[in-house]
Amino acid sequence: MKALRFLDALLLREFVSTFFLAMRYFFAPKPTINYPFEKGEVSPRFRGEHALRRYPNGEERCIACKLCEAICPAQAITIEAGPRQNDGTRRTVRYDIDMVKCIYCGFCQEACPVDAIVEGPNFEFATETREELYFSKDRLLANGDRWERELAANIALDAPYR
Ligand code: SF4
Ligand code: SF4
Repeated sequence: MKALRFLDALLLREFVSTFFLAMRYFFAPKPTINYPFEKGEVSPRFRGEHALRRYPNGEERCIACKLCEAICPAQAITIEAGPRQNDGTRRTVRYDIDMVKCIYCGFCQEACPVDAIVEGPNFEFATETREELYFSKDRLLANGDRWERELAANIALDAPYR
């Protein structure tokens, strides 16, 4: 009988302490967010979806040096280069990234001498098929056009540390 009473007291104490613990967290600010309606902060150094950038006059930044292709540890980048028709300057005629192979290491953007290929803040590019993750040059340039404001701001923020 004594042992039972002791057990009851122990259980009651556990219940009360658990109840107050639950109440404390119930009224505390929530660390979780209601994604996708709310979104967390993304660091300027976040390595998300790739983009090819242009200069403000619309000219492609990429000079087809292939440093990004050479450094990519996943061999995810495929570039073919040739002279441009109107002025003979060297440009890519093909620039593909296989996003399934990519490990988001950021080496391509580190290697690029003209900040052409960059990893942007976008992490919402899930697809239903494997083929949709094979990014062509047009897709990468479109990404660059779409995110240029954020990309330029992030590069400026990171500049003192490069
Ligand atoms: S982030 Fe890394 S793995 Fe992905 S394309 Fe760039 S260099 Fe290759
Ligand atoms: S994206 Fe940059 S590193 Fe890659 S080929 Fe173009 S200029 Fe060279």
